Amino acid sequence: MNINVLTLFPEIFNIFESGVISKAIKKKLLLLNILDIRKNSINKHSHVDSKPYGGGEGMVIRAEPIVKTLSEIKNIKENYIIYLSPQGKKLDQNKVINLSKLNNITLICGRYEGIDQRVIDKYVDEEISIGDFVLSGGEYAALCLIDAVSRHIPGTLGNQDSYMKDTFSDGLLKGSVFTKPEIFEEMNVPKVLLSGNHKEIAEWRNNNSLKQTFLKRPDLLNDVKLTKKQKKLLEKWASKDNL
Ligand code: SAM
Repeated sequence: MNINVLTLFPEIFNIFESGVISKAIKKKLLLLNILDIRKNSINKHSHVDSKPYGGGEGMVIRAEPIVKTLSEIKNIKENYIIYLSPQGKKLDQNKVINLSKLNNITLICGRYEGIDQRVIDKYVDEEISIGDFVLSGGEYAALCLIDAVSRHIPGTLGNQDSYMKDTFSDGLLKGSVFTKPEIFEEMNVPKVLLSGNHKEIAEWRNNNSLKQTFLKRPDLLNDVKLTKKQKKLLEKWASKDNL
């Protein structure tokens, strides 16, 4: 997968020099091409922004430096171009999976009051938001998107199964996990996890996944096809004494 990123702050992406994504880059599973919009500034003072027409606060990134930077990407016509924006469609796991199937993605990171609308109208395929809050720059949203999408590139994760069992993969939260020591500050690891009985462990994990979803994200349960057994458990937990 090739991901191009247009940004005014290329150094932010140095974060990918460590962690799982750095391995994907080293293995050439992911080619990350960070392009500095300021290199295509409109004058010798490195300006890339101007005041908004009609007045108002802040500055807007001009169209020319962005479009010039896009034109430097060799196969730009094969790219799915995304503008990270709080006004975009919210990123979720389904969207992440769909994006991970693409070979060429270009991300435009805004700053200040955003980018000139005409770039969005003519060049952008989709506006994506990472949540209903406003960041100071699209870079932080791009980091999230790149990380989440790269997990789905075959070979990126050490254990390829892990993303298939992640939270949201079956519509539910994954649930609790424990590791050594067996007793920590007088709290025990659930006995069944130490039993070696794979069937019982799987059942406990399924129930725990349902319970954590019920407790933390009951809204997710509306979109999941539940078994009779799961429905019974939910009824039981709904009467608080049985939690
Ligand atoms: N004034 C703009 C508005 O109200 O829609 C917000 C501009 S914001 C300060 C600067 C840049 O951060 C945006 O151009 C966008 O690229 C990015 N950004 C902010 N919030 C975001 C979010 N929730 N998701 C994705 N990108 C975001």
